[in-house]
Amino acid sequence: PYDLLVVGGGPAGAAAAIYAARKGIRTGLVAERFGGQVMDTVGIENFISVPYTEGPKLAASLEQHVKEYGVDIITEQRATGIQRREQVELQLQSGASLTSRSVILATGARWRELGVPGEQEYRTRGVAYCPHCDGPFFKGKHVAVIGGGNSGIEAAIDLAGIVTKVTVLEFGDALRADEVLQRKARSMPNISIITNAQTTEITGDGKKVTGIRYIDRHLSRKASQTLEVAGVFVQIGLVPNTEWLQESDIARNRQGEIEIDANGATSMAGVFAAGDVTTVPYKQIIISMGAGATAALSAFDHLIRESVE
Ligand code: FAD
Repeated sequence: PYDLLVVGGGPAGAAAAIYAARKGIRTGLVAERFGGQVMDTVGIENFISVPYTEGPKLAASLEQHVKEYGVDIITEQRATGIQRREQVELQLQSGASLTSRSVILATGARWRELGVPGEQEYRTRGVAYCPHCDGPFFKGKHVAVIGGGNSGIEAAIDLAGIVTKVTVLEFGDALRADEVLQRKARSMPNISIITNAQTTEITGDGKKVTGIRYIDRHLSRKASQTLEVAGVFVQIGLVPNTEWLQESDIARNRQGEIEIDANGATSMAGVFAAGDVTTVPYKQIIISMGAGATAALSAFDHLIRESVE
């Protein structure tokens, strides 16, 4: 059995594993994909002390740093359940199960999907979630961004520099992005914003996206409108990767985020959590790393007390 098992290999999980291994405790790390969301990121300019880096490069250094210590790394494995018995038991999709005296949950988050017809069918054929990754494919075209929160408006500003025209569709009657982002977006001549727009379908010609259909929620007759676009960037938020905790007793909030205290402790004894999967208010690399360190130090604290009992 492990002293500490980290679930997740993003910034939070990597930081947790390094902090734990440096305490000399037997540490394992299980991850579906090392690097997590960082692997989907192009430019990173807010990782303090590093003015500019790129996702895959940062992910490679994370992995290299973890490998400097005796951490048992198990990748391409998905955790499917967790229980507290005498120790903590973690089930994997492969059917195997791992036992540990303590666990840190750092399974991160993923983009929320719209759930309308055409979204799955045209995924990677015009439907995109990552403007940094897919923006350049739409050079010279008209694209839609669904969602007027920070990520949607950031995406619109980003895309406006590449594509001909960006139309933002916001479901509510006002954008939810920070004022400074809204000002920037409104100052760009090729961004237009439609509020009260409920996207109902992504249309295509069988090969690629040709447009979207939406309902103008303002109009009493709610007639369906269409917009011809070559791409649709869905930017309606992040979902925590906690579905696998459904049957566990670990407390989560309404959004599904794991509830933690200031030490990173969850409601299950010996189980801590860190990063985007938790109720932490801001989801960022540097914040996830700090949270991973906190969770590892708290787990260590828990272990040294437990061994005396
Ligand atoms: P994640 O990075 O999501 O990692 C989760 C890990 O858990 C992965 O290894 C995953 O494979 C694994 N996992 C998930 N479920 C399971 C399971 N059931 N079993 C086993 N393993 C599992 N932040 C910044 O600070 N600056 C930026 O410029 C920036 N740009 C971004 C751009 C994009 C496109 C995206 C998507 C995010 C960006 N972020 C940025 C946010 C940043 O990437 C995240 O805040 C950070 O990666 C969160 O780290 P994490 O370790 O909590 O989770």
